[in-house]
Amino acid sequence: LRRALHERLFYDSIVIGGGPAGLTAALQLARFNRRAVLFDGGNGRSTYHQVNHNYLGFPGGIRAQELQELGRRQLRAYPVAVVDETVTEVARAEGCFSATVSSGEQFWGRTVVFATGVRDHFPTFPEWQRFVGRSIFWCIVCDGYSTRGRRIVVVGNDNDAGVTALQFLQFTSHVTMLTNAPDLGLHPGVCDALAARGIPLVVDTIARVDGHDGIVGRLQLGSGNSLDVDFVFSLQGQSPNSELAASLGVELSRQGYIVADQDQQTNIAGVFAAGDVTRDLAHQVATAVHEGNTAATAANYFLYLPEQKHETYG
Ligand SMILES: Cc1cc2nc3c(=O)[nH]c(=O)nc-3n(C[C@H](O)[C@H](O)[C@H](O)COP(=O)(O)OP(=O)(O)OC[C@H]3O[C@@H](n4cnc5c(N)ncnc54)[C@H](O)[C@@H]3O)c2cc1C
Repeated sequence: LRRALHERLFYDSIVIGGGPAGLTAALQLARFNRRAVLFDGGNGRSTYHQVNHNYLGFPGGIRAQELQELGRRQLRAYPVAVVDETVTEVARAEGCFSATVSSGEQFWGRTVVFATGVRDHFPTFPEWQRFVGRSIFWCIVCDGYSTRGRRIVVVGNDNDAGVTALQFLQFTSHVTMLTNAPDLGLHPGVCDALAARGIPLVVDTIARVDGHDGIVGRLQLGSGNSLDVDFVFSLQGQSPNSELAASLGVELSRQGYIVADQDQQTNIAGVFAAGDVTRDLAHQVATAVHEGNTAATAANYFLYLPEQKHETYG
């Protein structure tokens, strides 16, 4: 710790994750004149090709990658340390926290903000990443509007996927439901509703995808059949990147998301969480930005001396 203080590797806040939540948290911490270090492993939802059309202030939308670049550029005006490495370990250390990165280097901080996002379970096939955000999506809130009148295939094998397929009728009548599994996992009631609304339910797997430049044209199925398609919506779910937080003793929900209150505080004093990793629903840039800002504000308040806190005076 003494070496850390000497080498200025000791920070007010350690921010883990450089998507919209983490970047916003780091920016607001800097605006509070706090020393922050931000770590990013470089493989989250901002690394795909989607354009965010529903984030206010960008007529025509903004590419997720570009928003991240802009956020990083905005941070450069402040002395925020940005470390492009994955944090492999977080631990408590003498009244503060330590973070170890993949190269083995260690950093210390008085507070931690987890903004680590989720891992999507998209259908995989050669070069699938090129298609995500161009013609393969997962979010009806974000990209349902783009499907108006187009042919879509909803991929998933549970009731949520079936219900989402039904919701897509708000945008297009050309909806097909594909289990991408050999057995049917949907409730009979959902199957009946799909049939009643004219949505074909295909129990089959994706064997290959024909397309170019990230645009899907046809799904070749395990049975030898095929589906012509404009957009694929994967409803195969995602897993929160909450393992590091769990190792620190942070409480997780049944689905593995970090439990945080409305100030983004976790059950551990000085540990905050923001963005997709805190919730099963509302995975949106606007939500991540809101939570990142709130987490930074709560972390700043946590860092105040007793005489700087309202409750000291009753
Ligand atoms: C195809 C697609 C389309 C979308 N369209 C829209 C849209 O139109 N509008 C909208 O609002 N939202 C959209 N979203 C959702 C939006 O991208 C997310 O809600 C948003 O990125 C969440 O921000 P975040 O900061 O919580 O997580 P992320 O953006 O996923 O960032 C998390 C970061 O944490 C890093 N990380 C994780 N673990 C570690 C670690 N141990 N050490 C260091 N770094 C780590 C990752 O590398 C990553 O950069 C879309 C998502 C996808 C995939």
